[in-house]
Amino acid sequence: MRLGPGDSPSDARSWFAPPDQVPQPRRPELVARSEPSRISGWASARCDEIVGDLRGVLWRFVEGVAGPLYPGLGPAVAAAGRVTKWGPVLVGLNDGRGADVKIGLTGSEHLGLWLVLRTRLGQSDHGPRPGWCADLPVGPNGGFGAEGVREGARIISGIEAVKPSDVAPLLLAAPHPGAATRVLARVDVRRRAGVVAVDAGDGLWLRRLFFTLVFPAHSDKRGETFRVVCPVCGRRRLAQFRGFDVCSDCGWLHTP
Ligand SMILES: [Zn+2]
Repeated sequence: MRLGPGDSPSDARSWFAPPDQVPQPRRPELVARSEPSRISGWASARCDEIVGDLRGVLWRFVEGVAGPLYPGLGPAVAAAGRVTKWGPVLVGLNDGRGADVKIGLTGSEHLGLWLVLRTRLGQSDHGPRPGWCADLPVGPNGGFGAEGVREGARIISGIEAVKPSDVAPLLLAAPHPGAATRVLARVDVRRRAGVVAVDAGDGLWLRRLFFTLVFPAHSDKRGETFRVVCPVCGRRRLAQFRGFDVCSDCGWLHTP
């Protein structure tokens, strides 16, 4: 709207500027986190804030399967486990980028054993299929056999009761504070990769995280291929560790 020259400033009020005397609507109180805020909160969160409360569960599972996955490694991992109760810290490889996928790493330089994980809010998402992702079935009851690890087992599962708050960041809606929440970890022995599922208290297993266990310590030799660009997602943020590379954007993994 174009105003004529005779208008005084007090009359020259735009239609779009609200009159001063009309009270502005107050911001509603945030009684519950709405889904968009949860998604933006997830994106801005560090990997540790999402998965950190499960690192003890994850590392106890690693301690249990290290031997079957990498024969001979079991005793060293068990000995290390007697020193630390909660396992190693969890490092987010793409923290601070606002990504809706979190790529994390936990492990021990001393052992040379690492767990690389990938998770996405409320989704069973293995992304662009980085080579290590193994998508194992998690049945309604988890499909457990007898307790213990059988000789020659192809798949090993672990289950643990956890606090609802420990798994809440992995779920679209936080479980009831009194819910009987559980975590299931399941690994394909041959591929050394697996899945973590969460029971929010209703007995239904939801895949929430994919992981692989790498043990490059026995080989200091780097592969002759030195990559700069991730062959899966095409981005250039490969995190390089002794003996392996991980794409910090999609979780693509390269071991010599
Ligand atoms: Zn990538």
